[in-house]
Amino acid sequence: MKGSLQLGKIAGIRVSIHWTFLLLIAYIAFSNYRNGENLTQTGWTLLLVGSVFFVVFLHELGHALAAKHYHINTTSITLLPIGGVANLESIPENPKEELVVAFAGPAVNIVIAAITGLFITFPDTSQQLVSLLEQGLNAQTFFIQFLIINIWLAVFNLIPAFPMDGGRVLRALLAFRMPRHKATLVAARIGQFLAILFVFAGFYSNPFLIFIGLFIILGAQSEAEMTKMSYFTKGHLVRDVVMHHYETLQETQTIAEAVALLLNGTSRQFLVLDKDTPVGTINRDGIIQALSQSGKETPIGNIVQRNMPVLDAGTPLEKIYLSLLQRKDELHLVYDNGVFIGVLDFDNVAEFVMIKNAAGNQ
Ligand SMILES: [Zn+2]
Repeated sequence: MKGSLQLGKIAGIRVSIHWTFLLLIAYIAFSNYRNGENLTQTGWTLLLVGSVFFVVFLHELGHALAAKHYHINTTSITLLPIGGVANLESIPENPKEELVVAFAGPAVNIVIAAITGLFITFPDTSQQLVSLLEQGLNAQTFFIQFLIINIWLAVFNLIPAFPMDGGRVLRALLAFRMPRHKATLVAARIGQFLAILFVFAGFYSNPFLIFIGLFIILGAQSEAEMTKMSYFTKGHLVRDVVMHHYETLQETQTIAEAVALLLNGTSRQFLVLDKDTPVGTINRDGIIQALSQSGKETPIGNIVQRNMPVLDAGTPLEKIYLSLLQRKDELHLVYDNGVFIGVLDFDNVAEFVMIKNAAGNQ
């Protein structure tokens, strides 16, 4: 994740902490100072925050190790002020495996809470608990808080707001009865509804809920899209969707000719050739920019975008979805056994999915 500070590696997993985390620490130290807390109090508070994030890390490690059991690697664990993110290379498609991986995180918190409970005496009544906690943090209340936070982490993460853990549990349960992409859509809608409640609640209570809510809304959407994409592209190869019809320009042609081609048709992307060999692409923005900066007699060869992404016709579509998404506006060259056969871009794969989806709904 961008803006993260790497702390180290464990079991091949990169562990890093996001820079906004420092803001959180500074905020806590500052509000403690402003409330007139002494240094010892501030020290206890920071220690509590530190240990909470350590258990958040253990929670994520729980997911990662459960995934590893199913031969899924985790590239990194990042700690953010709103919690942790374990970056799994893929998400188990088997609902039973997804259930186990999703439960593994909250299970870690439940185990930690249970172990902590063995070593402390919990007050008998809630009134006693409240008056104890009002003393502020000390050696005794620290562990009580720690235990409560672990229970809270387990419960909060199990709220069925996809893509939170509880939402993944929900998706897995639904996926026992319906296709995975439909289960994801249902879970994502429920998640987004709950996330809106989080945002509202955040305005009246803890502002972190607003961030978590937004994170869920965006995360749910992109995962629902991804799952739909991989469901409908399964079993298809790049060869099945390659575009054989596309507009071309020769390197030696001028910007004026490119402008004419642009005005003459609907294409916004052009493949640039040196005779028959593709050398790069140029799009509408590039043509307009070149027209204003270097004039209409400039040869296309001077402004062509040369490092085009290349795809093999035999690659499964679901494997290239992410890289197509990352280079959304670029044409990809498709080669079959070393022979250039056409081009492909993200929109074309998206169209393919839309068509499959529509045909499946009949
Ligand atoms: Zn989790």
